[in-house]
Amino acid sequence: MGQSSSLPSARTWSRGVRGWLAGASDAVVSVFFPAGCRICDKLLVRSSRVPICEECLDSFPAPAEKKCEVCGQALGWLTPREGEQLVCRACQQKTYAFERARSYGIYDGPLVKAILLLKWERMDPLGAWFADRLAEVILHEGDSFAADVVVPVPLHRDRERQRGYNQAGLVSKPLARKLGLPHKSVLLMRTRPRPDKQVLSLEERWASVRGAFATRPGSQVDRKRVLLVDDVLTTGATLDACARALLNSGAKSVLGLTVARAARNPLPTPDSGNL
Ligand SMILES: [Zn+2]
Ligand SMILES: [Zn+2]
Repeated sequence: MGQSSSLPSARTWSRGVRGWLAGASDAVVSVFFPAGCRICDKLLVRSSRVPICEECLDSFPAPAEKKCEVCGQALGWLTPREGEQLVCRACQQKTYAFERARSYGIYDGPLVKAILLLKWERMDPLGAWFADRLAEVILHEGDSFAADVVVPVPLHRDRERQRGYNQAGLVSKPLARKLGLPHKSVLLMRTRPRPDKQVLSLEERWASVRGAFATRPGSQVDRKRVLLVDDVLTTGATLDACARALLNSGAKSVLGLTVARAARNPLPTPDSGNL
């Protein structure tokens, strides 16, 4: 009987240790069980706050060299004549309200996985890493990307409340800091939510964002050159709708900058038929 009466205290002790381990789990796990790359699962050997290995970070597909000078769409099949500007069909027709758009990479392969991590797991260090890459894109573009203020493409307030954050803001905020520009996350708002449907056709994409953004009353955008930041550019419809709202409120110009862009911009506008 004496032996059995000592058991509960041993159990209590072990439960206590287990409880302490659970409480300290973050620290313990990071010391004793190194994490794998969130894209390829390979063990991470260097210490970094970005949980993606160097190989995966280096493997993000870069946009084409030959691209539309306005919207940045790949134009691999076009050969410009001497001194001719490379401008895609949509931009020849002046489709977009933004002045220019550029992206860090092509939305494909490992970059899709990385953007999903940013979007669904609030991965701030990855947002900062993308911000550094976008700062390099701006440096490369030179004076044509000079801006006065950085603005993230907003989510509808219900969506942001649900998710707890805006993934575009995870990139635009550190980018603004790096550029030494003010970051205005509440300047623009989405007044109409995105339709619930998972996949939108091109027409639905343009229709879903047309008139869906507005500047907040009292926002100061007059004569400002706005750098608009988003995670992905698919058709350009979202950047276009945001740019229209900003220009209507007196912004001087709007530049679009996204982490990734769709490999092929399907069709520039719903009006352009099956081009
Ligand atoms: Zn990896
Ligand atoms: Zn273009």
